[in-house]
Amino acid sequence: MAEERSVSIEVVYRGIFQKTLAQRICRSVVLAARKRGHTGTAFARYGDSPERNGVPAKQFAVVAADELELEASMAKYEPSVVDVSIAVDDTLVKGVESWAWYGRQPIWKPVRANGWLLVTSDKKPDEVLAQTDKAERPYTLGIVPGGASFAGLWVYKDDHTDFRVLGALAKILPQWIALDDAKAASLELAKGDQSAVASVQYGYDATTMRRVKDGEGTSGHEVLQFKKPGWTKMRPGVIVEARKPGERNPYYKKYGARTMRPVVNFDTCIKCTMCWLDCPDECFEVTPEGHYEVVYEACIGCGICAQVCPVKDCIVMVDELKFTDNKDKWQLWKTDHSKYNSWFEDMSGVSADPKKGASGSVPPNANPAANAATNPGADPAANPTTSAGGDE
Ligand code: SF4
Ligand code: SF4
Repeated sequence: MAEERSVSIEVVYRGIFQKTLAQRICRSVVLAARKRGHTGTAFARYGDSPERNGVPAKQFAVVAADELELEASMAKYEPSVVDVSIAVDDTLVKGVESWAWYGRQPIWKPVRANGWLLVTSDKKPDEVLAQTDKAERPYTLGIVPGGASFAGLWVYKDDHTDFRVLGALAKILPQWIALDDAKAASLELAKGDQSAVASVQYGYDATTMRRVKDGEGTSGHEVLQFKKPGWTKMRPGVIVEARKPGERNPYYKKYGARTMRPVVNFDTCIKCTMCWLDCPDECFEVTPEGHYEVVYEACIGCGICAQVCPVKDCIVMVDELKFTDNKDKWQLWKTDHSKYNSWFEDMSGVSADPKKGASGSVPPNANPAANAATNPGADPAANPTTSAGGDE
């Protein structure tokens, strides 16, 4: 930290789906810090941030001891080093590609040595760390309880993720955000709703911290890397090459945008083509047997295929953090049915044999839009103080 003179915080979020949430977190940080006499500002990288559904994006809050210091900090525009990075969807720890030409980067990339990475998650710190790129410098991982909130989709529905995060920040940065100030700010933002104060306290109390040493984390994400040409190397004019039959654009991989991915039960598939027809990203390839397999490098995890598939549990959406690569799975089904079916059951929690019924609980709908509509409190059980929500 620039020796207690300023503090930089970034919020990494799913573009569009979590935009309002990110804004609210950044604004609440500044509001709480101002109550202590600090000064600060909240901003997006671009005022007209070119966001895309699900594609990682960032917003920032910079708080400083005085205006002069704030001005010096603001000269950075997009802080390349931050004290705290906040990921409001735990699948973002698999790496982010937020500005389209950097390529995939570790979630901790801008976090200074001994800084903090706060992740909203219903998983344990070690489970999240297992999917986070190997650390190149030590930091502290904080898990703020709660699932990924898509409360910022079009209409804001407050599930108090913002207040839980504010409570967690009061815990790690008490010199900038005092707990009492965080509570006062939340009360103001929630227009007097006392449950906001309880959520700040809950975030403060229930956030678990884990020190991460240099070298901890996974080195497995190298398989997710791919080369991008970079905009400076593009040919004159705007040239987007068409996809040739049987090929896919090597620079156009969208898996960084998804929080869930589909798994297919080839045994129950009736080859109706609905998934192939309706996938907005042409992710399905036809197998020699006439099945449809997902090309995971192209899938954005929208969940449409699972919704249009007429066969119950033939396509099931599964938490992205359960996967470590993008390998297609049809080859496994072809060579070893029972091994594939065990994999399907393990991943989906659904029996591969419909006669046997469900082997576990069915995961929630993967489509963020559907989540927002049917599950406004993304994980109400994780937060006893969550309000019922409502349109603002
Ligand atoms: S979730 Fe299904 S419909 Fe959506 S992009 Fe992936 S394969 Fe296509
Ligand atoms: S929609 Fe379902 S049943 Fe139809 S082809 Fe796709 S996976 Fe098979």
